[in-house]
Amino acid sequence: MVPPELKRVMHMSEERTTAAGGMETAYGFRRVGAGEKQGLVDEVFHKVAGRYDLMNDLMSGGMHRLWKDAMVAWLNPPRRPGWSVLDVAGGTGDIAFRIVEASGRNAHATVLDINGSMLAVGRDRAEKRGLADHVEFVEANAEELPFADASFDAYTIAFGIRNVPRIEVALREAHRVLKPGGRFLCLEFSEVEMPLLDKFYEAWSFRAIPRIGEAVAGDGEPYRYLVESIAKFPNQRNFAAIISRAGFDRVTWRNYSGGIAALHSGWKL
Ligand code: SAM
Repeated sequence: MVPPELKRVMHMSEERTTAAGGMETAYGFRRVGAGEKQGLVDEVFHKVAGRYDLMNDLMSGGMHRLWKDAMVAWLNPPRRPGWSVLDVAGGTGDIAFRIVEASGRNAHATVLDINGSMLAVGRDRAEKRGLADHVEFVEANAEELPFADASFDAYTIAFGIRNVPRIEVALREAHRVLKPGGRFLCLEFSEVEMPLLDKFYEAWSFRAIPRIGEAVAGDGEPYRYLVESIAKFPNQRNFAAIISRAGFDRVTWRNYSGGIAALHSGWKL
């Protein structure tokens, strides 16, 4: 017998939105009023901030580290001073720290996040790693970046875009703050494209992850939102079209782990 929570997601691809607009009112599988989603997302990350890094390891079996390493390898930051990256929805700093290290501590990284609790953990981690002089933390909304046009050499966002209500607005902001020739990279959970792995992944996501959340963080609800929001997010091809519509050129993507995660790349030319 198929358990009810699995039945709901037997056709995950049919659940996915094809346009970014559909994400504005999708809080996981629930429809919420326009303008309500951000508050609900913020509650989730205030709740999980203290356990965020541990839960990432448990939920992905450590795989998120490899995907993040691959993102930074594709970015290939130069080992010269004066190069800057904006890491949006940067949370506890994982991407920014990797980029600064990969540049031989030459790059300057700005971690931007809407959530003060996530940033507080990030600041703490930067101090402990001796990276406080290389990374700054800014509390702001991806849809309204507090930076002048053409400010950064690269814009990165990892596992963040699906949480932002107005994706097209955030992507246009990304394009605006990049310098001409600037690079856009977005790492996000995506559509699993391998038979069998997709079934295993559905079972893991909808049955195991909320239970791990309950056991480790004492609350399964935020993790139910996380897995539902992954199932709703546009697939690789549709998301690439959305990125192109925001003005980016040469948009391509790479799948990791059979499409569990995908890394989209674009350029401001
Ligand atoms: N990038 C980090 C990583 O890969 O570990 C954190 C990703 S975490 C799953 C998603 C982050 O998106 C949270 O820190 C959350 O506060 C942030 N976020 C959600 N909505 C946002 C918005 N509108 N603007 C900026 N950050 C946002």
